[in-house]
Amino acid sequence: MIVAIDGPAASGKSTTAKMVAKKLKMTYLDTGAMYRAVTLALLRSNTDLDDYDSVCQVVDELELDIYDQGAKTVVKLDGEDVSQAIRSMPVTENVSAVSAVKYVREAMVEIQRNIGKKTNCVVEGRDIGTVVFPDAEFKIFMVADVKMRAERRLKELHEMGENRSLQEVMTDLKRRDEKDSTRSHSPLQKADEAIEIDTSMLSIDQQVGKIINLVREKNN
Ligand code: C5P
Repeated sequence: MIVAIDGPAASGKSTTAKMVAKKLKMTYLDTGAMYRAVTLALLRSNTDLDDYDSVCQVVDELELDIYDQGAKTVVKLDGEDVSQAIRSMPVTENVSAVSAVKYVREAMVEIQRNIGKKTNCVVEGRDIGTVVFPDAEFKIFMVADVKMRAERRLKELHEMGENRSLQEVMTDLKRRDEKDSTRSHSPLQKADEAIEIDTSMLSIDQQVGKIINLVREKNN
């Protein structure tokens, strides 16, 4: 069984998807973390992001490992735990450009589908209900007011010791949403049959409760 959760940056997908996975005893898969890990590998190797062949070479050579460990997702790049490093600002600023590259997407989607074949998953991303798992049993599209999303992301950044202003974070979110929604390959899009949840006025428990109820209603 696949529960696909898509939506723009900081719409509450991660926290919700993690809790839903825990309650339903399913695997949680954060596909954004995978695109972030590829971006980190490209930045570390000083690869010119406009040099298609070099980007493909780095993608071919990297060893990416992603798994749940207790309440957190561990991401390993060539054996090194990069779970924190992939959340840094340089990665965040470049990830939308990297994730727009078709070759990168195909490589990541293959890994995602292989994980989804082996286990019941709650998968969060941008193209999960539309492209990665078009036959997912449950499709959710989470949205929220941009200021609300920026406040959430700012809090996370402060907790990580990154000092940014609300305006900077809002500008980054808008830029990323625009890039993610307008790219030619697998843009951020609501699947026709997806259920939209606006999290602007909802608590985490309410968001989680809505999804759990959907799953339980259908499965009963
Ligand atoms: O979810 P998160 O904000 O960590 O995702 C980082 C970036 O990865 C997104 O802005 C988007 O460019 C890319 N992404 C994607 N497809 C997915 C998940 C994330 O293109 N399924």
